[in-house]
Amino acid sequence: MPKIKILPENLANQIAAGEVVERPASVVKEILENSLDAGAKRVSVDVELGGRRLIRVSDDGEGMTREDALLAFERHATSKISKADDLAAIHSLGFRGEALASIASVSRIELLTKTEADADATRVVIEGGRMEEVSDAGRARGTTLTVRDLFFNTPARRKFMRSESTENFHIASVVTHYALSRPDVSFELSSNGRQSINVSPAADIRERAFQIFGRNLLESLLPVSGDRSGVCKVEGFTSAPRERRSSKDSQYFFVNGRFVRDKVLASALTEGYRAVLPHGSHPVSVIFLELPYDEVDVNVHPAKTEVRFRRGDIVREVVADAVRSALSSGGVRTAPDIFSSRGLGKEESADDRMVPEQEVIRLVPEFRSSIGTSDVNPPEVQIEDSDVFDPRVAGLIADPLEETTHENTIDRQLDPEPRSTDYRVMSPVDSAFKLTKSVEISDVSSRTIDTLGQLHNSFIIAVDEHGLLLIDQHVAHERILFDKFRRRESIKVIKSQRLLMPEPIDLSPSQLIILEEVLGELEQMGFELGIMSGRSIVLKAVPADVPLDGARNLLLEILDRLDPDTRKSAHDSIRDDIAASLACRAAVKINMPLTQEKMRWMVDRLLVTSSPTTCPHGRPVILRLTMKDIERGFHRS
Ligand code: ADP
Ligand code: MG
Repeated sequence: MPKIKILPENLANQIAAGEVVERPASVVKEILENSLDAGAKRVSVDVELGGRRLIRVSDDGEGMTREDALLAFERHATSKISKADDLAAIHSLGFRGEALASIASVSRIELLTKTEADADATRVVIEGGRMEEVSDAGRARGTTLTVRDLFFNTPARRKFMRSESTENFHIASVVTHYALSRPDVSFELSSNGRQSINVSPAADIRERAFQIFGRNLLESLLPVSGDRSGVCKVEGFTSAPRERRSSKDSQYFFVNGRFVRDKVLASALTEGYRAVLPHGSHPVSVIFLELPYDEVDVNVHPAKTEVRFRRGDIVREVVADAVRSALSSGGVRTAPDIFSSRGLGKEESADDRMVPEQEVIRLVPEFRSSIGTSDVNPPEVQIEDSDVFDPRVAGLIADPLEETTHENTIDRQLDPEPRSTDYRVMSPVDSAFKLTKSVEISDVSSRTIDTLGQLHNSFIIAVDEHGLLLIDQHVAHERILFDKFRRRESIKVIKSQRLLMPEPIDLSPSQLIILEEVLGELEQMGFELGIMSGRSIVLKAVPADVPLDGARNLLLEILDRLDPDTRKSAHDSIRDDIAASLACRAAVKINMPLTQEKMRWMVDRLLVTSSPTTCPHGRPVILRLTMKDIERGFHRS
C-alpha cells in the first residue's frame, strides 16, 4: 500500500481555508467580493461578536440558480474563468473558486439566493462542509449568505481570533476598502445591531471619500492624476502635508478595482512625499490604478491582496510623478525625482533632501490661517512645575528664528527621532558604537555631572569623574515625560489644557472602534472628547504638557499607534503606548538650542526617572567616552 494518500475533499478545503480565511474579516472580504462580482448595487453586512458568532452579507446582485447554488460550494468551482487564457485577463475580484468551499468547511452556512428568472429562491444549509439541507424559499433577486460559528470545528484557528473590537476593526477596514473602490454601490455595516457604516451611492470617489472620512480630511486632499499610455493610469487623492499619520494604515491602493497591499506602490508614495513629510510620517492617500490586464498578475496569493506588476519600475515612476505633481499643484515644493533618469547621478544638497515644512506649508495660502492660530499660546498653559519645555513661553531659547511650533520643525541635518512603530528595539549596548559606551544607571550621579554645552544643538555634552558624557536631549526629555504621564495616570491627577476652539475631527469607522475602546484611558490622561453624531468627535482638551498645536494630529497618531494586531491586550500597554506618544510629542526636539539652566534641569530630572539610561522605545539616552578610552586614544596609557 502506498504511503501517500489523496486527502479527503473536506480536509483539502480546510487546508485551503487556512490561507483564505485567516479571520472573520477575510470571510467578509470574500463574500463582499462575490456580491460585487454579481453586479450588486447594494450590499449590507451584519456581524455579531466580531464575526465569530455571525457574519451575514446580503446583496441585490444576479443571484444563483439552484444548480449553481450547490456547485458554488465545490472546490475549484467558479463562474468567473474557464480556461488558462482567462487567467491572463482577470476582470472579476474572485477567480480561484475556493472561497465558498473553504468558508463552508470551517463554519455553519446558510445561503439564500434567487435569480431574476427563477420564481423561487433556493436555501442551502451546510455545516462544516457537509450539505444538510436544500429547499425552496422566498426572497427578492440577490443573495444572502450567513456564516455562523466560524472555526467551530478548527479549534486551533479559533484560538487565533482576537478581541471583538480587534476583529470589528478589521471588518470595518475591509468594508471601507470596498466602499472606496466602488462609489456607485451602497454599503452598510452593522455590528451587534449598531450601524457603523452606511453610505448611499456616490457620484464619484471624492464624494465617497467624504462619506467615509468626513469633511475635515477631504479639505486637505489633493487630486492625483497620471498616465503612461499602455502601462497604467493613476487617479485618486492624497493629503496635503499638514494631514499626516504615524502609520501607513490610511493608504489605500486599488489596482483595477482591487484593494491591494503593495511595496512598489507604497514606495512610490513615499518617494512622491520625499522631503515633504518628516521621516516616520505618512500621508493619507487613496490611489486607483488602471492597467491592461496583462500588465499585472493578480494570481499571486490566495487572499488576492497582492499583485505583481510586469513593469513595476514604470508603475512606480508614474505614481510618484502623479503624487509629486498633485503636491506641487497644491503649492507644495517637492524633491527631485530619484527614479527617473533625470534624477540619477545628481548630487543632492542637504536642502534638497529635506525641505523644512514651514516653508512648504506657507506656499499654500489656505493653510496659513491654521498655522497662524496655532502660534497663539492660550494663557492657561502652565510652565512652572511642568516637565514640558516650551521655549516660546520660557524664553530660554537662544535663537529667535526657532520660535516656531515644535511640530512643524524638521531637522535639517539629522534624522528626526524614529517612531516607536517603526523603531527596531535594540539593546543600548549594541547600538552604541565601539568607542563610546552606553551608560549603566549605577555609574551616573547627578551630583557629579557637569553640563558643558550642546553638540549640534542636539546632544548635551557633559562630564563626570569617569569621562565625557553625551546625552540625547530629545530622548532624555522623552523619558522624563513618559514617566510623568504614566505616573500622572496612576495617581489620577488629571491636568488638562483646553483648546481655544474645540477641534472637530472626523474618524474613519475603524478609528472610531479603537477610540471607543481607549476613551476611558485617554480621559484619565487629560484628554477631553465629545462624541458627536456618527463618527464625528470634538477634541476639547489635551494633557497639560503637550503642545496645543497639532492636538488633532496627536490624537490621530495615538489611535493609529494603538494597532489592535500588535498591541498586547493588557491595560498597561495601552497606557504605555499613549504615554509614549504624548512624551514624544511634547519632548524638545533635536536641533534646538538649550540654555545652561535647561540642560542642568534635564540632567537632574532624567536621573530620577525610572530608567534614565534608556528611552521608552529602548534607545540609549546617555553615551560615555571614558577617561581610560580617551587616554588610550591619545596613546597615553
Ligand atoms: P470565485 O469567487 O473565485 O469564483 P467563490 O467560491 O467565491 O469563487 O464563489 C463560487 C461561485 O459562486 C462564484 O464564481 C459565483 O458564480 C457564485 N457566487 C458566490 N457568491 C455569489 C453571490 N453573492 N451572487 C451570485 N453568485 C455568487
Ligand atoms: Mg469569490
